[in-house]
Amino acid sequence: MPVTRLADLTDPAQCPCLVVKVGSSLLVGKQGLRREWIAGLVDELAQCRARGQNVIIVSSGAIALGAARLGLEKGGRGSLADAQAAASVGQIALSGLWAELLELHGLPAAQLLLTLDDLEDRRRYLNATATLGRLLDAGAVPVINENDSVATHEIRFGDNDRLAARVAQAVQASAVLLLSDVDGLYDRDPADPAATLVREVRGVTGEIKAMASGASGSGLGSGGMTSKLQAAEIADMVGIALAIVNGTHDRPIARAIGNDIGTLFLPPVGKRRRDAARKAWLGGRMKLKGELVIDAGAAKALQGGSSLLAAGISGVAGAFKRGDPVGIFDQAGTVLAHGLSEYDAEECARLMGRHSREHEALLGYAPRSAVVHRNQLVLK
Ligand code: GLU
Repeated sequence: MPVTRLADLTDPAQCPCLVVKVGSSLLVGKQGLRREWIAGLVDELAQCRARGQNVIIVSSGAIALGAARLGLEKGGRGSLADAQAAASVGQIALSGLWAELLELHGLPAAQLLLTLDDLEDRRRYLNATATLGRLLDAGAVPVINENDSVATHEIRFGDNDRLAARVAQAVQASAVLLLSDVDGLYDRDPADPAATLVREVRGVTGEIKAMASGASGSGLGSGGMTSKLQAAEIADMVGIALAIVNGTHDRPIARAIGNDIGTLFLPPVGKRRRDAARKAWLGGRMKLKGELVIDAGAAKALQGGSSLLAAGISGVAGAFKRGDPVGIFDQAGTVLAHGLSEYDAEECARLMGRHSREHEALLGYAPRSAVVHRNQLVLK
């Protein structure tokens, strides 16, 4: 079942995997990291985990924190060099605190610093996605930020709202929760007394965009409502729900859900529509570079939602590389699915028809879990 209400965000049945993005102004105050508030949030996230939800944290705050430590003006955003230096000083303390607080609940923290390219370049996208999947399976809580210290303008997300949406897409999370310094999206400038909170949005239309003003309220992060709407558009495109709620309270998740205060962006209705949205997104990256022919057993497994394993492959065509899109066909030549191949064509040919336990010897390195992972595959 998909997410349809704010309350579903903490329900493991509706939302098995939640990405929570925390903005700079919530994490960093005048005295540095807001330890008590963060500890309260970590309590809430540990409860999500105890209920059986997977949780991924996207944490801002590195630049703001590092700038304070280094005494840099404009919150470290005066120049790119300042931001990059600030980020590397801030990041080390930031991840240290997340790790310490998560550990109090017995949860291992896992740091990932990503650049735009890590999610756009297909090979790197597969690597990042596989690592995240493995971390979640192993019981860790990934704490993600942009790799600000090395990412330059051309390869930057620039804001963690969109990074959170792209991470959610990569791991096929059920929803993204953006903790902000306002209650959600207002129909006009929230300073206007007539402004009312928009509770539910279906589709980020021009009218919705017109409601957002560009600047970040706090001046600490690079977010603001515009980047949140861009994140909502990404989530929409891949069929994932996204919520904006106010993080300025203690235990912000309980407060937002208990009182039903926030804005929920819902993707197209119905499973077929959501699949279509996902297909369209993957489809956008898909100019097929090769073909895999599979046997009837593998075809059945695929229809049942499994990954494609080498044992079920009987033919390989094309000169594709790891990360390239391939068509998956049955013996009669009917297309069954499109997906991103975990291996080069030549490696696929070596592995085809062979059981996973033989793969390491055939490849000469530790094999991947599938030839096309189910997360990287759309059925036709
Ligand atoms: N990556 C930035 C940081 O850690 C924050 C980006 C944002 O404000 O969204 O400071």
